[in-house]
Amino acid sequence: KPVKELTQHQAAEEAADLRPQLIDWGKQYYDADAPAVEDDVYDRVYARLVALETAFPAIVTADSPTQHVGGSARGDLPKVRHEIPMLSLGDVFSIDELKDFDARLRENVPANYAGFDYNCELKIDGLAINLHYENGKFVQGSTRGNGQIGEDITANLATLPSIPKTLTRPLTIDVRGECYMPKQAFLDLNQRREAQGQAPFANPRNAAAGSLRQLDVQVTADRKLATFMYNIADYDPLDTRTQSGLLDELAELGFSTNPTYQVAHDMDDVQAYITTYTGQRADLAYGIDGIVIKANPLPLQRAMGATVKVPRWAIAYKFPPEEVETVVTDIEWTV
Ligand code: NAD
Repeated sequence: KPVKELTQHQAAEEAADLRPQLIDWGKQYYDADAPAVEDDVYDRVYARLVALETAFPAIVTADSPTQHVGGSARGDLPKVRHEIPMLSLGDVFSIDELKDFDARLRENVPANYAGFDYNCELKIDGLAINLHYENGKFVQGSTRGNGQIGEDITANLATLPSIPKTLTRPLTIDVRGECYMPKQAFLDLNQRREAQGQAPFANPRNAAAGSLRQLDVQVTADRKLATFMYNIADYDPLDTRTQSGLLDELAELGFSTNPTYQVAHDMDDVQAYITTYTGQRADLAYGIDGIVIKANPLPLQRAMGATVKVPRWAIAYKFPPEEVETVVTDIEWTV
């Protein structure tokens, strides 16, 4: 039933049914690295919950998955507190929704940022990591966890060739980005696992997460993980004041960054970027599940801030699912 035809009571009841289901799927996905359903099934149920809660804000509960960054820190790994939280991203599934996001953001930006550009980036299908450097030395690496508390995986991350142990400048910074497993490494790993009678990983993201959160760092070292860094907790120590400049500066500092980014002046440019990478997706050496657009001026990002879960200055446009074969489902909701 369309949300607008529901009473608040009906919406509250439906939301109360959806939340435990999403929480349960989330646990299997984030904590056990073994999803129970395809992502698009999760995404549709999540979108329905968002629609219900948006139409009836009074029904939102503190434990709703819409109020938390997914995931938690595994009990047997040491914990790290993120002073500046690691967030998720809002997402949209159509160009019309993307245009609505743009229109809303433009209405809300301070007047001196009117006409701001976006930086378009590929949405890498991996897991978010934080790399902490003191005076240019790598001292700690962690997972996103629930956004506030992640897992300390310093020794695991130290085995990755793409992570610099010393930066080209002695900066004290927290650099954030994605750790992923290239497609070929994923196929090889699953083949080896199946030959050894072990369950294959469902997708490269779960394989990367499972490979990083290992007590035996040699296992991580053998898994051929790679990184693309794209963010910094606090940009003050950097020279640049734009998102596109940040990617260049991170590369100069020694990080692996994704070269495919593009500055977009308007939504036509964004759409052209989406068309290009929808076409190239299958040929890339790594999985992507969409693109991310980010307001390019870093001070504008800071001015817009974030909700409890997502930044207000960025959004992910998700591609339709790649596989033709998806889990058969009777979920046919109108959002
Ligand atoms: P998300 O993965 O959709 O988006 C946020 C993340 O995108 C960031 O944390 C970051 O790690 C990543 N990212 C990749 N490239 C980026 C870039 N260039 N710039 C910024 N960020 C970039 O959000 P989420 O909250 O982590 O997870 C939700 C996703 O997980 C959904 O796609 C959902 O389908 C999936 N999920 C699936 C199940 C399941 O059971 N199948 C359960 C829970 C979640």
